[in-house]
Amino acid sequence: MTAIRSYNRRVLVTGGAGFLGSHLCERLLARGDEVVCADNYFTGSRSNIAHLLGHPNFEAIRHDVTFPLYVEVDQIYNLACPASPVHYQHDPVQTTKTSVHGAINMLGLAKRLNARILQASTSEVYGDPAIHPQPEEYWGNVNPIGPRSCYDEGKRCAETLFFDYHRQHGLAIKVMRIFNTYGPRMHPNDGRVVSNFIMQALRNEPITVYGQGQQTRSFCYVDDLIEGMIRLMDSPDEVTGPVNVGNPGEFTMLELAEQVIALTGSRSLVEHRPLPQDDPRQRRPDITKAKALLGWEPTVPLRDGLERTIAYFRQRFID
Ligand code: NAD
Ligand code: UDP
Ligand code: UDP
Repeated sequence: MTAIRSYNRRVLVTGGAGFLGSHLCERLLARGDEVVCADNYFTGSRSNIAHLLGHPNFEAIRHDVTFPLYVEVDQIYNLACPASPVHYQHDPVQTTKTSVHGAINMLGLAKRLNARILQASTSEVYGDPAIHPQPEEYWGNVNPIGPRSCYDEGKRCAETLFFDYHRQHGLAIKVMRIFNTYGPRMHPNDGRVVSNFIMQALRNEPITVYGQGQQTRSFCYVDDLIEGMIRLMDSPDEVTGPVNVGNPGEFTMLELAEQVIALTGSRSLVEHRPLPQDDPRQRRPDITKAKALLGWEPTVPLRDGLERTIAYFRQRFID
């Protein structure tokens, strides 16, 4: 973790009451930063940040990033956006607005303040990738008109805006392409595979594997991800990204189901359900750049991360 500075840096975290955002706020406070969390609580919750509310350096404001925001900060982490397919497809127009209008407003804010700004982009910019693993140079294979497009194209447009503000206005930008991340404070009903499988296993309900379960994902534990995010923000100005941050350990969804069943000691059985449209068949980050530019690589193996996540879900929602 970065050393405590002798002055308080002021940091804005949009989407700070969400899964990743709440962990980020916590880590920034721990190193001595002042943190302003801006969130409209669409998918995040006050319970995610309840333990931070009494902290003298923490402030939470209810705000939708599709509207302008006037605060005074030194750094901006732009995480506001629903991330699970179920959530982002609930109101797809609002999802695109959040990524695009949200990026414009936060970039306008960064421009006025001459603040550094980091965008939480995504491996979804690669769509259903034809190249494996995915390096940052790959332009992706995204359906522009499908049910995932509101998220994928919104995030791609946000990346465009970041690089245009960088080229046109000289803004210090950081674009981070986040691969599937899991851990405590994931929403139990967000429909993502890790939270679904754990909740189903803990309740001894059927484990819903979509399709044949041969599609792959690479899962990064939240603590590793946040470390990479802070390192990217604190990297030299010339490091703009995009930088992939994720765990290259690649698993099929059937393998994940088996691990979760074993680690929970569940009586659940696997049940196959239809594969959603445009579901990417494979995904694994090439993290050569993150290693070289940030000295970063993941440290938590899937088994350990799942154990910690299962303990959280069990204690919070089952016991
Ligand atoms: P999350 O849904 O838990 O958090 C998103 C937060 O943004 C929530 O607190 C939500 O209320 C807030 N939000 C949504 N729309 C908003 C708006 N218009 N104005 C203000 N706040 C708004 O999801 P997460 O997993 O924590 O993801 C955080 C960011 O990281 C997202 O931008 C997501 O696209 C990106 N990301 C996450 C993953 C992952 O695996 N978790 C992977 C790739 C990218
Ligand atoms: N903006 C904001 N906070 C600020 C400055 C700007 O939310 O402190 C928003 C504002 O809504 C503006 C957008 O950011 O529309 C883009 O700002 P920019 O200066 O790039 O463009 P312009 O103001 O010319 O539209
Ligand atoms: N998935 C699954 N069962 C579930 C939820 C998801 O088999 O209950 C699959 C889904 O089809 C996809 C993978 O798990 O292939 C990851 O899905 P998730 O929604 O977590 O993330 P994303 O598709 O955005 O990577």
